[in-house]
Amino acid sequence: MAKTILVTGGAGYIGSHTVLQLLLGGFKTVVVDNLDNSSDISIKRVTELAGEYGQNLIFHKMDLRDKPALEQLFASTTFDAVIHFAGLKAVGESVQKPLLYYNNNLIGTIVLLEVMAAHGCKKLVFSSSATVYGWPKEVPCTEEFPLSATNPYGQTKLFIEEICRDIYRSDAEWKIILLRYFNPVGAHSSGYIGEDPRGIPNNLMPFVQQVAVGRRPALTVFGTDYSTKDGTGVRDYIHVVDLADGHTAALCKLFDSNIGCEVYNLGTGKGTSVLEMVAAFEKASGKKIPLQMAGRRPGDAEIVYASTDKAERELNWKAKFGVNEMCRDQWNWASKNPYGYGSPDSTD
Ligand code: NAD
Ligand code: UDP
Repeated sequence: MAKTILVTGGAGYIGSHTVLQLLLGGFKTVVVDNLDNSSDISIKRVTELAGEYGQNLIFHKMDLRDKPALEQLFASTTFDAVIHFAGLKAVGESVQKPLLYYNNNLIGTIVLLEVMAAHGCKKLVFSSSATVYGWPKEVPCTEEFPLSATNPYGQTKLFIEEICRDIYRSDAEWKIILLRYFNPVGAHSSGYIGEDPRGIPNNLMPFVQQVAVGRRPALTVFGTDYSTKDGTGVRDYIHVVDLADGHTAALCKLFDSNIGCEVYNLGTGKGTSVLEMVAAFEKASGKKIPLQMAGRRPGDAEIVYASTDKAERELNWKAKFGVNEMCRDQWNWASKNPYGYGSPDSTD
């Protein structure tokens, strides 16, 4: 019997890629998303890309904090596990509007966990982030590193990790995997689904992509005086399809072992600077990205990359793609969809 997975936030960037990989892997998927930061066009495209498996995808426009609606969904469907992506994720906005972030991310998660428990669904994969490592004292970051948060978004990730550890301590029937993502970039190789942030992108590659298609004049490079090979910040960029596959690996672990509550990094283990990433994108796209050198962005760490040993060993998962493939696929998506899922008039 095919397993049925509830995917919260499944219309979003990582969620849509994960839902596609789940469908192709033979899972039935039910997506709930309030479309606050996404479009249902992504769902339609995932359905098409999945071909005959597309019929195994059901979408509900729903806010996770709407407990009666979630209750009704769980009453009508038996879920084997939940992958919980839904949340707000813009660091800068979280500093301006902390209550919005605490309300959405924490209350949404608590409601979800309560409804799961009430219906005896106790298998969860949660989207955590490398942001919980703060400014790491050394690299690569292992899962045992001390945790900290420098903004309300990061706090929500830390709190939710703690909530998960607590509910497992209170009830050993729970099986929970906390996945700490490093920097997801790229798109599905079809160029049919990808990242479509609202407003001015916070993250490097969505910004680069918008410069390449002529929506913004130049990339501002935040910080040129870090102790790195070229002075710019170093991160662990991971292809979104590799990341999506990491979720299938996590689900298999939940179904096949007595895992308790465990945390895994999902990264490549390789560090790439801002200038190296820009160069790889210029090569992939044939577009020149004009640069504006600027000071450091407050709160940014210097070098962050993952230790991938634990995920390789215990999830049997390893990233396959490098930065050239990430930039190739990012450009394929951007050039086919310069305004994402919208039209030139619907975004700024
Ligand atoms: P995204 O914004 O594209 O997707 C999140 C989805 O959740 C959106 O479709 C949004 O509409 C939905 N959502 C938000 N609040 C909701 C609510 N209350 N009820 C229902 N739906 C809601 O973001 P993404 O990049 O796909 O990220 C997915 C998850 O991974 C998030 O939890 C994010 O914090 C985490 N994460 C992302 C990154 C990254 O760089 N993209 C890195 C680390 C962790
Ligand atoms: N960055 C940049 N210009 C931008 C956005 C990001 O120079 O417009 C840099 C940022 O300082 C960091 C790297 O790119 O060194 C990755 O930033 P991103 O926000 O994508 O990820 P995070 O800092 O959250 O890991």
